[in-house]
Amino acid sequence: MSIVANAAAILRAGGLVAIPTETVYGLAADATQGKAVARIFEVKGRPSFNPLIVHVGGHDWVADLAHVDDRFARLAKVFWPGPLTFVLNRRDRSPVSELVSAGLPSLALRMPAHPLAQDILSAAQRPLAAPSANRSGTVSPTRAAHVAASLGDAIDLIVDGGPCRVGIESTVLDLTGPAAAILRPGAVTAEEIAAIVGPVVSAESDSAAPKSPGQLAAHYAPSIPLRMNASDARPGEARLGFGASPDATLNLSASGDLLEAAANLFGMIRALDDPARFAGIAVAPVPLAGIGLAINDRLTRAARGR
Ligand code: AMP
Ligand code: MG
Repeated sequence: MSIVANAAAILRAGGLVAIPTETVYGLAADATQGKAVARIFEVKGRPSFNPLIVHVGGHDWVADLAHVDDRFARLAKVFWPGPLTFVLNRRDRSPVSELVSAGLPSLALRMPAHPLAQDILSAAQRPLAAPSANRSGTVSPTRAAHVAASLGDAIDLIVDGGPCRVGIESTVLDLTGPAAAILRPGAVTAEEIAAIVGPVVSAESDSAAPKSPGQLAAHYAPSIPLRMNASDARPGEARLGFGASPDATLNLSASGDLLEAAANLFGMIRALDDPARFAGIAVAPVPLAGIGLAINDRLTRAARGR
């Protein structure tokens, strides 16, 4: 089997593959499989969930995943494939796992230019969530050997596409609101973007621009109170279980599988956040180990409330 076909088969089966892109090497998983996406967070060892960029194989993949507008069409025509990521409003029935966007109503999308990345996307026929292929807190890898040194034992395949041409991350441009806003500066400049769609604000210097998603505490809080480490539900409360919980309204993972719990987390909190039915959400204890750290971080933010 060719390396491309092998990579595509592993991805479709829910595995993790490091892929070359023109910016940095990405740690890819099928964005439609929550457990595969949860493995990305586990392997990177990040103690919290941050939204991931979803890589697409063509302009025509976008309409199923997110709402597009004229600004997107004009910019994608010029800069795709390439190092420009768009943050768009996700479709209600987007097949992408909610874990990918860490529960946000938006989705970050990019079409990479590296020929191997394109071949793998075409062969897999799945949108691929892929942050940089390094452990949390270490520098982004621009060669396959960097990935092997950092993650070699923990992932299923590394596709060597040589050194990355650009070597810095993509520009992240938020188009969810009326003002186009740069959330992260990168290889495509604000001037290049402004030449096509007019003035662009910068989230770093401009208070009118959206902040980085990690700072949007309100996005992480349900509208009803949430209690962590609750041994049982009080009258009126929904019960979000973990492990054996006969009284659970919903269960993050009846078998106590932390990857499954991570994959279910955002969707289940959203489903239980229903003031007409519940006065609050009582969440069973989730172990503080591995990806359980990120789950507890998210629950802590949700419990803090608005
Ligand atoms: P990396 O994982 O290194 O590729 O970085 C992903 C970047 O995209 C981070 O700066 C994220 O904050 C940003 N990002 C991804 N998804 C979203 C989203 N839905 N909304 C806003 N920013 C996003
Ligand atoms: Mg990174």
